[in-house]
Amino acid sequence: MKPDPISGGCLCGAIRYELHTPAKSIEHCHCSQCRRAHGALYASGGLYDSAAVKITQGEKRLTAYESTAGNWRQFCSTCGCHLFMTVDAFPNEIYVWVASLDDGMHPGHPADKEGHIFVGSKAQWEIISNDLPHFDAESDSLGIGN
Ligand SMILES: [Zn+2]
Ligand SMILES: [Zn+2]
Repeated sequence: MKPDPISGGCLCGAIRYELHTPAKSIEHCHCSQCRRAHGALYASGGLYDSAAVKITQGEKRLTAYESTAGNWRQFCSTCGCHLFMTVDAFPNEIYVWVASLDDGMHPGHPADKEGHIFVGSKAQWEIISNDLPHFDAESDSLGIGN
C-alpha cells in the first residue's frame, strides 16, 4: 500500500505541495548561496523524483531565480519562502526545502542518506554539532543524478 502523502507549503500559505514518496536523501547545504537565499546558516534539501512532488495550490505564485547556470531556486512571490530547487541537467529530480513541511514532519529518507555538504563554505562562526557525514563540497552519495 502506498503511504499517504505528506504536505508542506510557504510562509503565507498561498503555495501548498504534497510529497508522494519518502526523500531519497537529505543534504544540509552550507554554501554561500543557500545561506543568502534562506537567510540561515544552511538549507536542508530533500531529493525527490519530480513525479513524486505535486503542487496542489498556488503554483502561479511560484517564481524562480537562476542562482547558478541551470539551477533554479523556486520561491513564493508573495512571502519569499523557498520551496524547491531544480537543476536543468537533471529534469527528473527536484530538491524540496524540507523545513517547509507541515509540523516539522520527517521527510522519510533512510538514516544513512543524510549529510552536510559544502561544509568548506560554511559561515565562520557556525558549529556543526551532529554526527552526520560532512563533505567539503558536493556529495556523490547523496546528490542529484546519483
Ligand atoms: Zn507564500
Ligand atoms: Zn547550497
